[in-house]
Amino acid sequence: AKARGRNGYRFYAPSMTGEGVERLRLETFLRRSLEKNEMFLNYQPQVEIDTGRLVGVEALVRWNHPELGLVPPARFIPLAEDSGFINQLGKWVLDEACRQMMRWQAQGLHVPKMAVNLSVKQFERGSIAGMVADILKETGLEPQRLQLEVTESVIMNTGDALGFINDLHAIGVGLAIDDFGTGYSSLAYLKQLPVQTLKIDRSFIKDISTDVNDEAIAIAIIQLGKSMQLSVIAEGVETEEQAAFLLRHGCKLAQGYFYSRPVLAQDMLERWIDH
Ligand code: C2E
Ligand code: CA
Ligand code: CA
Ligand code: CA
Repeated sequence: AKARGRNGYRFYAPSMTGEGVERLRLETFLRRSLEKNEMFLNYQPQVEIDTGRLVGVEALVRWNHPELGLVPPARFIPLAEDSGFINQLGKWVLDEACRQMMRWQAQGLHVPKMAVNLSVKQFERGSIAGMVADILKETGLEPQRLQLEVTESVIMNTGDALGFINDLHAIGVGLAIDDFGTGYSSLAYLKQLPVQTLKIDRSFIKDISTDVNDEAIAIAIIQLGKSMQLSVIAEGVETEEQAAFLLRHGCKLAQGYFYSRPVLAQDMLERWIDH
């Protein structure tokens, strides 16, 4: 902020300080990003630990702005959520991800499942299931090959989350609870949700061989998944040691740098077509 005048009166309001200006600039750029083709998707493989078999990919959005360079999602997703742009962006991501599944298929690569992240704001707009159903119909992707990832906090903070999730379930798509263990969902509530997958948050995997608490949490989530007949996938797996630990404790699926960083669609084709 700049101080103006002898009385120390600030010309800029607190929200107009450096950070505020930067935010506005980002927001302005963000609104144009889709029409300017600056958004693209990366895909991160999800694998079966003991066989290395590809079971799916997660679509992760990337923004490459000519001036700013590559802006991380952690910086622009919250902005997109605040400004409402997430509805357009989320729809674009879903459409592109579904189309990519069909392209891979035509190129001879069978990717069993596509996972796409949903934001809380996309639930506030009403008919999310209608939007998903339209995209599936347009692209021709079978509903059971799409898995929507929703964080625990989204579920707990959305008025009628159960209603929306039931609607999505009704059209046949899979549902995963993302970042599981970081929110506060009660087990009683979890039991009511028609979800098939729990994703163990990366923060519990990171120190798995050194932090006994993280180990205990990871094991508890794996057990919970087992007793509720849900599949459990560990995210952020970076080492062989972590993978071995997970396998030993009954977690069959993983995603993380140990297997692959998020990559372009073309790289998926080159790396996995022989598998
Ligand atoms: P997320 O859904 O939990 O996605 C996993 C994040 O962990 C990704 O970060 C991924 O690149 C990163 N990651 C994967 N494996 C490893 C690993 O082994 N080590 C480490 N350190 N990181 C790993 P990314 O792509 O930066 O995305 C961050 C978050 O942004 C995502 O977290 C998700 O919440 C959000 N996001 C990304 N794409 C979308 C999207 O299309 N829609 C919405 N609504 N949110 C998205
Ligand atoms: Ca996710
Ligand atoms: Ca996650
Ligand atoms: Ca996360």
